[in-house]
Amino acid sequence: MSKLAIITGASSGIGKATAEAFAKLGIDLILCGRRIERLEALKETLEKSVNVHILTFDVRNREAVETALNSLPEALKQVDILVNNAGNAHGLGTIQDGEVADWDAMIDGNVKGLLYVSKVVMPWMIARQAGHIINISSIAGKQTYPNGNVYCASKAAVEAISEGMRLDLNPHGIKVTNVAPGAVETEFSLVRFKGDNERSDSVYKGFQPLVAEDIADIIAFAVTRPAHVVMADILVYPTAQASPSVINRK
Ligand code: NDP
Repeated sequence: MSKLAIITGASSGIGKATAEAFAKLGIDLILCGRRIERLEALKETLEKSVNVHILTFDVRNREAVETALNSLPEALKQVDILVNNAGNAHGLGTIQDGEVADWDAMIDGNVKGLLYVSKVVMPWMIARQAGHIINISSIAGKQTYPNGNVYCASKAAVEAISEGMRLDLNPHGIKVTNVAPGAVETEFSLVRFKGDNERSDSVYKGFQPLVAEDIADIIAFAVTRPAHVVMADILVYPTAQASPSVINRK
């Protein structure tokens, strides 16, 4: 029987690449995000090989999260894999100059949004005594870098939530994988710098960053391990990177 996965933030970057990798594995998909036209385009492509369902909601809106997920027919609540990927950085600057709206977006999206989605899906997995939750954290969650402050805090929270899930879901046979990427070239920096292309491009200048497909490959590896194996915590850098701020640029 084919597996079923929910991927949040499937409209772009790592989430989209993960959806493509899962489709190659024959995993049916529930794709989530706010930009419906992108999700529909992806659905059109991927449903040539697997069943694809779309849900549009802002993860920051608890009511919208609950309404969307609970609207799924029973068959689509038999979820094997949840990829908590939706998230972004907003701004890069000193904490004393930080915008409160940016802090809210990061804490509400990266932390509370992940919790809201998980809160609905975990009971479905517990009922079946099986499942696999993959949380997309970041090197930023393991090491705080200058000007990263609240984004780093939001990802440190994801690290703690992954550990907490692993402990508390342990009696229920649910796997928890924490994936912490370094620099991946996606729309991430464009969002962080509020559409400033030049600033965004400069992040990836002079070295080969990871691409979304590199992370998707690793997630695909994690979900295809045998039942008794869990990839618990994965840190992935591009070869040119040694820490959040040490990057060998030519
Ligand atoms: P992208 O900006 O390309 O993708 C972000 C995805 O998250 C989009 O699909 C977006 O969908 C979704 N999203 C963002 N905010 C919300 C929201 N409030 N509600 C619903 N969906 C939301 O960036 P990445 O692919 O790089 O980011 C994916 C994850 O990887 C994030 O959690 C990020 O923090 C993490 N990460 C990224 C790294 C990088 O260098 N790129 C490094 C380490 C971690 P839509 O706008 O359609 O809602």
